[in-house]
Order: sequence, then structure tokens, then C-alpha cells
Amino acid sequence: MPCPLPEKETGNIHIHDLIIIGGGPGGLTAGIYAQRAALDTLLLEKGLPGGQMNNTDMVENWPGIESISGAELSTAMADHVRSYGLEIQQQEVRQIEPCLGHHLVHLADDRKLAAYALIIAAGGSPRKLGVPGEDANYGKGVSYCAVCDGFFFRNKTVVVVGGGDSALEEALYLAKIAAKVYLVHRREEFRGGMILQKRVKAEKNIELHLNAVVTAIQSDRQGVTGVALEDTTSGEQRELACDGVFIFIGFMPDNSLVPAGTKMNADGFVVTDEKCETRLPGIFVVGDLREKYVKQIITAAADGCIAAQAAARHVENRKGDGQ
Ligand code: NAP
Repeated sequence: MPCPLPEKETGNIHIHDLIIIGGGPGGLTAGIYAQRAALDTLLLEKGLPGGQMNNTDMVENWPGIESISGAELSTAMADHVRSYGLEIQQQEVRQIEPCLGHHLVHLADDRKLAAYALIIAAGGSPRKLGVPGEDANYGKGVSYCAVCDGFFFRNKTVVVVGGGDSALEEALYLAKIAAKVYLVHRREEFRGGMILQKRVKAEKNIELHLNAVVTAIQSDRQGVTGVALEDTTSGEQRELACDGVFIFIGFMPDNSLVPAGTKMNADGFVVTDEKCETRLPGIFVVGDLREKYVKQIITAAADGCIAAQAAARHVENRKGDGQ
């Protein structure tokens, strides 16, 4: 049974072949493949095309380009997709309503759009430490983006928290700007890649504080003044004076638009099949929101390619069914 559009809209709502929600590398790559498959496609993005890539200093693992800033790669991808004539609208999506034949997308401005297939590429946002002083000092010394805020800490002292690729990369970026970078990680071993680890250890103005967690961020009227640390092995408490705290401790998937009936894992990432399709036919999830082994720009882009190809097949079948 096809799912009818709301009665008052029947006849005057255009049903797109595909709506892509999110303009990061997954969504933009899906846009390129969808245009090449001649799908009637619309891409909705509430912020800047490129998504989280815009907050990345240098990308050094995109094949064919030794080194490019995240912002430049974002612009290049958006230009590429626009060269195919893809319509990108700056719109916030409030809700996705799955149906049998097509699906509805409710926008924040109360309009509804319809499409036979949806690709959700909503990504996520930085995980917070959840310690006293973090929220109160956000924008006053606490930051989740070195590229955005590093400039304000020229010749100052900053703490970077985390042990993954992001923390290591951003500590290296900040080491070029700040006088001193304290890198605080809760374990002895880093999670981030070996090349980054070697570079961090070789950087003279990065000082490692391993087996340590930040328990509070201290401040005065001007902003951040330091952090309280606890040694995870001995329990010893100490303080580090600093002007800024950059937190890179992972990522929270933005699953707020993912409709009920879709399978998610315990961490809130969406489980799909190998076509990036959810349990709901015609609804695909790509990029950092999808459960997978490696979250990288290149794997997000690969998801976008796969989902767009699968969406094209889905649309063909739907139209063949006359729905
Ligand atoms: P991540 O790999 O999940 O690392 C998070 C780090 O934060 C871990 O070291 C973790 O410690 C630590 N952590 C988590 N919760 C914490 C807490 N409450 N308090 C203190 N420390 C905490 O996250 P990510 O670095 O943002 O990277 C996310 C994904 O993007 C990864 O797959 C990464 O490879 C990828 N990435 C790739 C690149 C690149 O290749 N250029 C750049 C950036 C990100 P434990 O290690 O003890 O768990």
C-alpha cells in the first residue's frame, strides 16, 4: 500500500526522487552520484557545506592531495557538486516522517517536502567532558574547534584534552600558535595514529600529561585560568594554569532526525546494511552517523556514493511500481 500524502497537499506537492539531509563529505558525495544518476535531488544543509570538515585544520589523507585545509576541501567538494547543478538549500529539518511509497521531510519553517528516497547525513557534534566550568566558560576559553578559536591563544598556554586523532592533530595545530600546549589524556597510550603520535612527541612546546583527567575548569571574570587534574593511577590532584581548554574527546552522533523503527547501536549510531540502507526502505544513513569501523572523510564519501547508487535503484523500483 502506498502511503498517501496529507490530503490537503495532494496534487500540489512535488515528490523529489531524493532528498539528502546534511552537506558534509557523505552528503556532498551522495549529491554528485545522484546528479550523475539523473535523480531529481535536493540537498538540505542547516550550516555550511562541508560540515565538520570546516573545523579540521589540515587533511593529509585524501588520496591525490597531499595536504589541504578542511575548509578548502569543503569548498572544493561543494563547488564540484554545484557544477552538476545540484540544488543546495540552507534549511533546517525538524522531522522525518517515513511512509511506504515516499517519505516526508518537515522543515523548521513548517513546510513539508517529499521524496521517494532520503539520505540522512547529519553527522554529529563534539562530546563534552561534563565537568564544572565547561559550559560556563564555553566561548570564554573553552573550545571544541582549534581552527575556529586557536587564533585567540597566540603566545598563550592551552590545555588540549583527548588521545584520539582529533586531539593529536589539534594539539599540533595549536602548538604553532600557542606558547605552550599541555596535552591531557586519561590513559598511558594514545588512541590516535602513530604518525601523529610521533609528531606530537617531537614537538617541543607540547607537554604530555598522561593518565590524567580534567575534573574542573577554573576561571575568573576574564575567562579560563586553569584546570584541575586528577591522576587516574594514583588519584593525586594537581592544577595546571592555562588560558584556554580545547576538548577533543570524541563525537556524539546527531540521531535526532532518525525515525523510529530504525536500528541504532548502544552509542546511538545507526545500523545499516552494506547499501547504507536502514530497516526502513528508501531511508539511507551515511557518514559519521552510521555505525562503522572507521570514521574518516573518505569513508563518509564512500558511504555517500554507495547510498546514492542504492537510492537510484530504489527510486527506479518505486516509480516502476507506480507509487
Ligand atoms: P576518538 O578516536 O573516539 O578519541 C577520543 C579520545 O578521547 C580517546 O583517546 C578517549 O580516550 C578520549 N576520551 C573519551 N571520553 C573521554 C572523557 N570523558 N574524558 C577524557 N577523555 C576521553 O575521537 P576523535 O579523536 O574525535 O576521532 C573520531 C574519529 O575521527 C576517529 O575514527 C578518528 O580516527 C577520526 N579522525 C581522523 C582524523 C584523520 O585521520 N586526519 C582526524 C580526526 C579524526 P580512550 O582512548 O581512553 O578511550
